[in-house]
Amino acid sequence: MRLSRAFLPTLKETPAEAQIVSHRLMLRAGLIRQTAAGIYAWLPMGWRVLRNVMQIVREEQDRAGAQEILMPTIQPAELWRQSGRYDDYGKEMLRIRDRHDREMLYGPTNEEMVTDIFRAYAKSYRDLPRNLYHIQWKFRDEVRPRFGVMRGREFLMKDAYSFDLTKEGAQHSYRQMFVAYLRTFARMGLKAIPMQADTGPIGGSMSHEFIILAETGESQVYLHRALLDYDALRETPDYDSDLSHITDFWTRHYAATEEKHDPAAWEAIPEADRVSARGIEVGHIFYFGTKYSAAMGLSVQGPDGRPIVPEMGSYGIGVSRLVAALIEANHDAAGIIWPDTVAPWKAAILNLKQGDPACDRLCEALLAGLPDQAVYDDREERAGVKFADADLLGFPWQAIVGPRAAAAGRVELKRRASGERHEVSLEDALARIRGS
Ligand code: ATP
Ligand code: MG
Repeated sequence: MRLSRAFLPTLKETPAEAQIVSHRLMLRAGLIRQTAAGIYAWLPMGWRVLRNVMQIVREEQDRAGAQEILMPTIQPAELWRQSGRYDDYGKEMLRIRDRHDREMLYGPTNEEMVTDIFRAYAKSYRDLPRNLYHIQWKFRDEVRPRFGVMRGREFLMKDAYSFDLTKEGAQHSYRQMFVAYLRTFARMGLKAIPMQADTGPIGGSMSHEFIILAETGESQVYLHRALLDYDALRETPDYDSDLSHITDFWTRHYAATEEKHDPAAWEAIPEADRVSARGIEVGHIFYFGTKYSAAMGLSVQGPDGRPIVPEMGSYGIGVSRLVAALIEANHDAAGIIWPDTVAPWKAAILNLKQGDPACDRLCEALLAGLPDQAVYDDREERAGVKFADADLLGFPWQAIVGPRAAAAGRVELKRRASGERHEVSLEDALARIRGS
């Protein structure tokens, strides 16, 4: 991608309306554009990051055995009447009437719809267990949309739904998702801590929120220091085996959000091990038994011919919120620092002397060697502007091409995260960037 032809609009000024660093940087780096309160368009750079985040989420859901589907954003009110949630949900639900005066809504979540789909096909105990997920836009008419995509009204969520024959089966499904979440966030370079959580309006009996510690987070959390250092994923979990040793560790140590905070249990922890911090909720998993299956008449025939009402769970990840959370966790005064796994492009190629034959040739060779992985800053701009923009946009690598080194066929390779620079050959530069 050549910057001279790209749609990567950056802002010089810090937008006054943005209160937290991720929102400021997403606007300044041209990742998103607000189109209405809490509703955003994703511009090329933001969309590429969002797609990368989505892809990691998808791969880890697939690996855990969940199957991807795609349900619509618009749902009939009728399904929500069957579960009894239509009136309960309140003003957060965007209610719509179509031309035939039928009541519809823009889905804030999909328990009803997935239960309706599943009940149409699942007839026998052999049809379970199953886990279905999708990655789809949700709408919640939040009272106070703020902080950009961190708390939007329209936002992208991964939501998975498990159906099991027994409570034990449902708990196994829950643990599979628990481990899939640890893997998902770890691949993005994020330390997400599971915390016992309130089940809230979805209702049920077991729930964890996955929280990333960040000063600007909206949640107050309390946890045992041991949780910060525990690496649950040293061994790749085999999802069919017993996963309780992993989940047990997290439940043995104190970790709670404000709503579930227990001051007495907290006081029992040695002072030096207590961590009180702010956090961002990036995921939330629930086991809620037969709440929806019973209300909506989902039942299958058991081996003995008797009906079984499936046990269910639901598992959400805030995919668009994660883009903001990633920036909260990875930035400095100059701009964004994308982790390699989610970066929109791996490298920026900075031509410090546009028109110099050696510089132009080397830059073209870098670009050709990194198909769809590099942005070539070929603008007629001062070197200082190119450096500042590359830092702001946060590419993990900068390949800096100036006339002196270029004459010798060499490139200065800068790692955005550490600031380390090395002068290397074209081949070495390509190899390092490709290998990261
Ligand atoms: P919150 O407590 O932040 O309002 P929630 O508990 O209502 O979230 P869930 O129903 O658990 O959210 O949704 C699953 C995930 O979707 C959350 O963990 C969060 O990451 C994300 N999410 C929820 N609401 C929003 C929003 N308004 N904007 C962006 N992401 C959101
Ligand atoms: Mg929640």
